[in-house]
Amino acid sequence: MLCERCRKEIHKHETCNYCKRKICVNCVKSSRRVSKTTRVVICKDDWSKIPNRKAFKATEVKPKREERERRY
Ligand SMILES: [Zn+2]
Ligand SMILES: [Zn+2]
Repeated sequence: MLCERCRKEIHKHETCNYCKRKICVNCVKSSRRVSKTTRVVICKDDWSKIPNRKAFKATEVKPKREERERRY
């Protein structure tokens, strides 16, 4: 198959969580494991879009910060 971003022939692909394209590892800007089964992938195009980048960075497993910010 071909990478939907750079059109290179690839055997293994990742799916970008934002544009849903099947892309090669070279087009993946970053990926993050959210849980055992879920992985979030962002391509270089979406990385350059600030809202998508922010959304990607916000995809974290229960930030500990929340607990610290809680006041009694
Ligand atoms: Zn590619
Ligand atoms: Zn994308």
